[in-house]
Amino acid sequence: MDSYCAVAVDVAAAGTDRPFHYRVPPALAGRLQRGQRVRVPFGPRTVVGWLLGAVDQPDLPPSEIRDLVAVVDPEPLLTPELLDLGLWLADRYCCLRAQALRALIPADLRHARVRPLEEERIFPAEPAEAAQSAPSAASGPPPARKAQVRAWQALLAEPGLTRAELAARAGCGPAAIRALLADGLAVARPVAVRRDPFADVAAALPPEPVPPLPTPAQAEALAAILPAVRAPRPDAFLLHGVTGSGKTEVYLRAIAATLAAGRRAICLVPEIALTPQTAARFRDRFGDGVAVLHSGLGEGERHDEWWRIRRGQVGVVVGARSAVFAPLPDLGLIVLDEEHEGTYKQEDVPRYHARDVALHRAATLGIPVVLGSATPALESTAAAASGRLRRLALPARVLGRPLPPVRVVDMRTEMEAGNRSVLSRDLHLALGDRLRRRQQALLFLNRRGYATFVLCRSCGYVARCPRCAVSLGYHATESRLRCHYCGYSRRPPEVCPRCGSRYIRYFGSGTERVEAAVREAYPEARVLRMDVDTTGTKGAHARIYGQFRRGEADVLIGTQMVAKGWDIAGVTLVGVVSADTALNLPDFRSAERTFQLLCQVSGRAGRGDIPGEVLIQTYNPDHPAILAACRQDSDAFAEAELAVRQAAGWPPAQQLVRLVVSGPDGPGVATLAQAVARGLHGEPGVEVLGPSEAPLPLLRGQHRWHMALRGARAEVLREAAAHAQDLAGRVKGKARLSVDVDPQSML
Ligand code: ADP
Ligand code: ZN
Ligand code: ZN
Repeated sequence: MDSYCAVAVDVAAAGTDRPFHYRVPPALAGRLQRGQRVRVPFGPRTVVGWLLGAVDQPDLPPSEIRDLVAVVDPEPLLTPELLDLGLWLADRYCCLRAQALRALIPADLRHARVRPLEEERIFPAEPAEAAQSAPSAASGPPPARKAQVRAWQALLAEPGLTRAELAARAGCGPAAIRALLADGLAVARPVAVRRDPFADVAAALPPEPVPPLPTPAQAEALAAILPAVRAPRPDAFLLHGVTGSGKTEVYLRAIAATLAAGRRAICLVPEIALTPQTAARFRDRFGDGVAVLHSGLGEGERHDEWWRIRRGQVGVVVGARSAVFAPLPDLGLIVLDEEHEGTYKQEDVPRYHARDVALHRAATLGIPVVLGSATPALESTAAAASGRLRRLALPARVLGRPLPPVRVVDMRTEMEAGNRSVLSRDLHLALGDRLRRRQQALLFLNRRGYATFVLCRSCGYVARCPRCAVSLGYHATESRLRCHYCGYSRRPPEVCPRCGSRYIRYFGSGTERVEAAVREAYPEARVLRMDVDTTGTKGAHARIYGQFRRGEADVLIGTQMVAKGWDIAGVTLVGVVSADTALNLPDFRSAERTFQLLCQVSGRAGRGDIPGEVLIQTYNPDHPAILAACRQDSDAFAEAELAVRQAAGWPPAQQLVRLVVSGPDGPGVATLAQAVARGLHGEPGVEVLGPSEAPLPLLRGQHRWHMALRGARAEVLREAAAHAQDLAGRVKGKARLSVDVDPQSML
């Protein structure tokens, strides 16, 4: 009897977003697995597709159904579990199955662009041959022969070295090894070697001593988590602990228990390339059983790490957002550190949120999830209040270390007092104090929106990107203007292009200006800077981090990159140069983001034995987010902000789906946006906000309009979004509609 199967073709188009049926040729019967990639005829071509499963009744008559051609990957990339996760993803985030399934596997692995790396190694030849012709030094051999004997002995002592290693061990030259090979005493064989992404991280950090005993609060949290790990239960925990309260230690112990129970664990971190320390801590604890996955890996490293994971050769995966799809067999726990971080949301299709994917994946597998944060997302706070998450608290820092006192500096009075520097008088003094005491200081700058532009003082002209309509940043090191969104760059003008004035001023990037101010104030200070300009090369982040951690600099100036997860005992002063920039963004999350960021940065101070201090410079000293951050009181902030969201109807009080229409011509975009909004008008349970021009109305040459769909029920909104996609698909023209479920950015 013939057997049939359903296939999702890997063609990203609305018309092909459904299962297609094929006959399974007898040669392949019984050799196929759900999720495996196959090659199938599709119209005049053959295409790759994902095997969805067997079907009893094909939807075509036997005369028309075609044969599946071949299997693409003998060792399937996707497990059945991940196939189902991908199909769920398409549904949940309103995208095509092909787009969702592609996202589960790194592109270079899907295209099999990278091969295992093989290196030549030298081994003794089979014992039988070797015994007969083993070189002997007995009868006074010539010196060359002696070298060969030494090489032979070294080879027996340690087979599998490279030529260079063997020569070094034996103290011989390459000729002796060539002779061993020529005589058939040794053989050279290619051996797969692993490209190890920890190579530079491990060198940058000192190893951790013995794991500490849990504090009472940690023990209490573990008492709740460990039973769910040992006899797996789909419990979801929110571990709410201030910075430095020992959350990571709780993750490490929960993961150790998972391994002890014979299962494996994923730990997600916001962007691992930015937290070399986390990776190193895991490596310290679990050794070679840790794999990392993040955007900073070379493609060879990613290939090797991914296959180690897929084959179950590691017990722990530490990775950024997409590691939530890590194909670990026997998954037993998922941890999400800093669960409030915006980087967990993917901004391209499929626009998934790793937190929601993790919760779904774990629930499906029946295993626990731990979400950790010092400043939980309001979504998570609300979920804990309603019982969907179980809240565990670590209310204090370990070892009774105090949270650093936070002081607000009102920058308006600085201006009035005639101080035009980026450093207030207080911050200036505090810096000098640390330098005298040989302690370290961290100066933090919120890069986004911080003045980094060219301004004409005669007419107010600001240089903007012609494709994105945002002001261009000035980069003093390369002396160019650059767009932070699309990368467009140009030489700065010498006279104003609008009025011809010569009074044109460059404002260097925020971090550069702060660096200049610090150097001017304290010429003897050793200053490091960490921003997009200084971390462009691979490993640069880890290197700067290592230098600062080893105390090779007094002051580190940085952007968001330095706010997260850093634990440097020598830092006793944190200065927030400008707290305001994120506050004024046209986004309902701006207060939440500001609060979280300020708490994170403040948490970098006083983590060692000497207490720390935090200074926040702001023009809005009375803003609730800044006041709450000073007290590091996330409960108070959440309560106040949830009330605001409730009143205004923003998440988590209501559900949200954002629709963005973009295209090369402005009027076409506006027309489509208005047509879609009209088409959705009157759908029950859906409120349409807008349409209007997006806050970034022109991005990478694309005009942008947007609208938001709001309502109590997510499924209803997703249906409306699908309807909108339908409507837009029927309109001719270059404008496109994109759907963002649970948008994290409204820009
Ligand atoms: P968090 O992840 O909440 O910021 P960490 O787990 O990084 O906190 O802990 C902060 C510091 O305290 C680290 O240096 C860590 O090694 C140390 N630490 C954590 N737990 C303990 C403990 N039970 N006893 C002693 N030191 C601890
Ligand atoms: Zn001008
Ligand atoms: Zn641009």
